[in-house]
Amino acid sequence: MTALIPHWVDGARFDGTSGRTGDVTNPATGAVSGRVAFADAGDADRVIASAAAAARGWAETSLTKRTQIVFAFRELLNARKSELAAIITAEHGKVLDDALGEVTRGLEVVEFACGMPHLVKGAYSEGVSTGVDVHSKRQPLGVVGIISPFNFPAMVPMWFFPVAIAAGNTVVLKPSEKDPSAAVWIAELWKEAGLPDGVFNVLQGDKVAVDAVLDSPEVKAVSFVGSTPIARYVYERASQSGKRVQALGGAKNHMVVLPDADLDLAADQAVSAGFGSAGERCMAISVVVAVGGIGDELVAKIADRTRTLAVGDGTRGSDMGPLVTKAHRDKVASYVEAGEAAGAKVVVDGRDVQPDGGAEGFWLGPTLFDHVDVDSSIYTDEIFGPVLSVVRTETYDEAVELINANPYGNGVALFTSNGGAARKFEHDIEVGMIGINVPIPVPMAYYSFGGWKNSLFGDSHAHGIEGVHFFTRGKVITSRWGDPAVKPVGGLELAFPKNS
Ligand code: NAD
Repeated sequence: MTALIPHWVDGARFDGTSGRTGDVTNPATGAVSGRVAFADAGDADRVIASAAAAARGWAETSLTKRTQIVFAFRELLNARKSELAAIITAEHGKVLDDALGEVTRGLEVVEFACGMPHLVKGAYSEGVSTGVDVHSKRQPLGVVGIISPFNFPAMVPMWFFPVAIAAGNTVVLKPSEKDPSAAVWIAELWKEAGLPDGVFNVLQGDKVAVDAVLDSPEVKAVSFVGSTPIARYVYERASQSGKRVQALGGAKNHMVVLPDADLDLAADQAVSAGFGSAGERCMAISVVVAVGGIGDELVAKIADRTRTLAVGDGTRGSDMGPLVTKAHRDKVASYVEAGEAAGAKVVVDGRDVQPDGGAEGFWLGPTLFDHVDVDSSIYTDEIFGPVLSVVRTETYDEAVELINANPYGNGVALFTSNGGAARKFEHDIEVGMIGINVPIPVPMAYYSFGGWKNSLFGDSHAHGIEGVHFFTRGKVITSRWGDPAVKPVGGLELAFPKNS
């Protein structure tokens, strides 16, 4: 009998009453390691009610006190981040060092949120008219829902909840059912940091739990991250009931390599960004665009490096771990078959991998395709696995045209030694996050993270000042206070006021 991974409500574990559960596996062994509770509507109501009951008290808690608790959470998380990394590796499969990197990037958002007193400061204009002043303030929304994907079970929720909580909201987090334990560990850490019960809650489950969050009148805003079809669905359904929604979707990220680039650097970065976390990153590079006759040399360098990668259990010092589930592994492998059938050249074949891990693990080695046709499914679809495609263009303009025609617009990279080309690229390209000689341009916490086109529905990106604005509402107050020593001038004035 495997352990039940529960919901978290009113500051305590809650097994739920639905009787529904889902299996959680260790991808490196294939063994079922736990069962996660799947909420029904009643469980969801209970969790959301906990957040709603805590909302007023938390919003009225002073900014100083709220920030102190977020800071205490930061200290605990920093001290114990290796525990969280181990939980991530056990359920997601990514190698430990990568899991630690994920926690560290999330921690940066916690640190950003510790500056909330500065971030929610309003403006004040004295004397806009005679005796009239104007000031602005930002206030929390109430209960906010966060629905997260499997690929970053700690970092993606941390893009949102530190900002939401520091700004005075209460949270219902619906993690991925594939790796749900990180969320419960985080909830326990919040309690230890002194967060009042009900401010941070976890609702486990599948579509039933998601729909309950989307439809609940108590939930005022939804931050979603996941695949594009579900992001679109979440955006449409939640905004129908008047909620504020940011829904970050899938990606197909290109890396353009110009003939003047350092090809060794470009090859290193293509391999790191293509195969890190087994390609299960929304900012992974999945297409290398070799411009102007460098294709053969670049592909040879990428292939040499790809062949050195050690694939295995993430706890054993491997470079790359397994895929998250057997179903996902099989889906990615089917793309490898499809790419070969479509005539692309298989330069490195991940199907031949000899992993250092369990025989039943969800293994697929890094796969490199060359001469990929842009009409084939390995180019058109988000594969979300360790499959890197190389396409070739004659010119810079063709490369930009290809990328701008792509329905996704999450991340892109340019490798060049020409500053003028880099400057032109960052102007021309229709993508939200751009790296120049940097392959995975994930913005720092004090900037905002988000793509364009089918990679984001809604208009607010995550964290940074856009995140603060997403989780707060603005008010502007215009007030008139005359000098007590001067008798006010009264009288009726029905015309629209002309300031003087
Ligand atoms: P997913 O869309 O399958 O699931 C995301 C969340 O939605 C999960 O919590 C899941 O339980 C829920 N969900 C799944 N199906 C649903 C349905 N039919 N109705 C309602 N809710 C549903 O995504 P995933 O496989 O967990 O994650 C991988 C995807 O996330 C990739 O497409 C990746 O590009 C994307 N992603 C995007 C970003 C970004 O910043 N743009 C970041 C990370 C991941």
